[in-house]
Amino acid sequence: MLDHGIAGKKALVCASSRGLGYGCASALAKAGADLVMCARGAQALEISAEAIRQETGVDVKIIACDITTPEGRQAVLEAAGHVDILVNNAGGPPPGNFRDWDREDWLAAIDANMLTAIELIKAVIDPMIERRFGRIVNITSGAVKNPISVLGLSNAARAGLTGFVAGVSREVAEHNVTINGLLPGPFNTERIETLIANTAHTQNISQAQARKIIEERNPSKRLGEIEEFGFACAWLCSAHSGYITGQNILMDGGLHNATL
Ligand code: NAP
Repeated sequence: MLDHGIAGKKALVCASSRGLGYGCASALAKAGADLVMCARGAQALEISAEAIRQETGVDVKIIACDITTPEGRQAVLEAAGHVDILVNNAGGPPPGNFRDWDREDWLAAIDANMLTAIELIKAVIDPMIERRFGRIVNITSGAVKNPISVLGLSNAARAGLTGFVAGVSREVAEHNVTINGLLPGPFNTERIETLIANTAHTQNISQAQARKIIEERNPSKRLGEIEEFGFACAWLCSAHSGYITGQNILMDGGLHNATL
């Protein structure tokens, strides 16, 4: 089995009781990293953490909190003590029409999908530099490269985070600290169900038909699975990935139709 070289490292995986965050937490644990996991719902978080403990034997701390609040971030950072690997994630903003969004909607999206990640990067990066090891993965979205009109809040907030990271990743690379974006296309999680329901509603079709359309227009003819996403995350976080930084890696089954 491939040795990722991160056994015993401490990984903070945000928003990880299910979905893509869970996929990353599980894969990092399989590579031997100890975990701090968080989500707002305590019960699902405990069940997910216990599943990982049972399967891998790593140490898993859990904090039930809203990671988009200063209190939530402080709680996870205190629980972690130090962080070698940071996976930034939070729920995505709702779909809609930009004509209906007011300042509060914009601030909520920017808080959740841009500033929360920047605050956590700010908290962990200098100790990473001192220890000469750090891996940061931001779960953003394929919408960074392929904007989805109804997800305007997401397109904009994630583009802001991507721009910030493009600069700072180059500033810290010489210290063996990397920052990359992992950009999911359509994955088989609860989040995609919201988007399927929205498509069904706006196109006046059934949810099964909406799901079929999403699958059929993808070159892979299917949705991605969280285990696949976690595997890519663990690869980016491995000790051997120190020369990959400032990248935005699409995982979308080939949906983004471009030569480069
Ligand atoms: P998901 O299946 O709905 O899971 C979201 C996870 O995040 C849950 O564990 C949830 O638990 C937690 N969470 C949500 N808001 C949180 C908060 N404020 N504080 C702490 N934990 C929070 O979603 P997903 O599909 O994994 O998506 C993850 C991210 O990738 C989202 O930003 C989404 O927009 C983006 N994305 C997903 C897809 C896709 O196809 N799935 C595609 C592109 C982008 P609680 O609800 O208990 O807090």
